[in-house]
Amino acid sequence: MLASTRKAPVQRTICRGCESDKLERFLDLGEMALAGGFLPDTEAIASEEKYPLSTHVCRACGLVQILEVIDPEILFQNYSFSSSTVGPLVQHFQDYAKWLQQKFHPELVVEFGCNDGILLTPLGELGIRSCGIDISENITEIAGSKGLDVLTGYFEESMAERIMDRFGEADVVTGSNTFAHNDHPEIILEAARRVLKPNGHLCLELMYAGDLLEMIQWDTLYHEHLTFYSLSSLQVLLKRCGFHVVDAERHPMHGGSLRVTAALDADEEGQPGVAAILEYERSKALADPDTWINFGQHVDRKIEVVRETLGRLSHNSRIWGYGAAGKATLWVNACRMAYLEAMVDASPLRAGKLMPGTHTPIVFPEELRANPPDYIFISAWNYGDLIRSKEGWFQGIWLVPLPDLRFF
Ligand SMILES: [Zn+2]
Repeated sequence: MLASTRKAPVQRTICRGCESDKLERFLDLGEMALAGGFLPDTEAIASEEKYPLSTHVCRACGLVQILEVIDPEILFQNYSFSSSTVGPLVQHFQDYAKWLQQKFHPELVVEFGCNDGILLTPLGELGIRSCGIDISENITEIAGSKGLDVLTGYFEESMAERIMDRFGEADVVTGSNTFAHNDHPEIILEAARRVLKPNGHLCLELMYAGDLLEMIQWDTLYHEHLTFYSLSSLQVLLKRCGFHVVDAERHPMHGGSLRVTAALDADEEGQPGVAAILEYERSKALADPDTWINFGQHVDRKIEVVRETLGRLSHNSRIWGYGAAGKATLWVNACRMAYLEAMVDASPLRAGKLMPGTHTPIVFPEELRANPPDYIFISAWNYGDLIRSKEGWFQGIWLVPLPDLRFF
């Protein structure tokens, strides 16, 4: 995050899904440090950048999106999220590998945004050949060191050619929680179309706008996550790029995700899950801009409650945070938690660094045992139960901010 690498964010003016210019802002978090911009040391503070962060909904297709696009070189070059350090994710991808095997019997699976090989590893264990792509070199190095076939770069036309030369056509192209990070999803879809067999399938796992709305997950609205698809808004984009949705289901990953299967073969029939989710989206008025404007007002109040409550507690109590995920950056900055003494995280990629914006030191769980505070704020609230059972020895009070602020 050096100043010399800074490029101003590109401000998008048309919808990422349907290219309409009818975009309505519903949440404005002001200037925000990058959610994944963990600082290596105190010397890096001087060159830390903040960027405007606001979220919009498209009046034409209902797509929820962030329009400030940060250069991916800055966002992901030293990405410090190594999936395989998160236990529940490991289980998720083992299950996902089995699901892919049973549903498609694939010979070759291509995964874009493969991270450290969390899906490629169980695919290999099932005897399925796979090829992974990721833009973060430090992450692909980890995957490569496990003996996995990984390529560093963007999943675009030239990468599709490289894959075809080396591996041939794919039965499945998949991306879990990465598709929505891209400002130009049509480039990924074009690459997928190139590399897939005519009867192949595209499987996407995405953070779901329905869960964002229902669980008020405003803390996932940050620069890395440019887009929050509903099934109906995704359908518009996929159709524009030659795919059609044949299956969809909801999953609990990342606080609520959608798993969507799309086919190139226009004659392939859709599964009942598609109609059921579209009906759910109609019942929640997910495509209605007013739904999102109300959501934005609701979020403003939630932030206010946490800011006031913890701010008051901090006057005569010691407070730590737990879980230095991207969402933690939003909580500590929006709620101005400069008083946090430390943020606990088990990942060696984050412990030892400083939180973006507030510069709170990130420490391993052992340090918590050595010096327990009065309160622990669980910023990784979606793993709240897991964290509390793991640290069952803690005698103080746990604070969980969502869906409502609760004390345990
Ligand atoms: Zn649109």
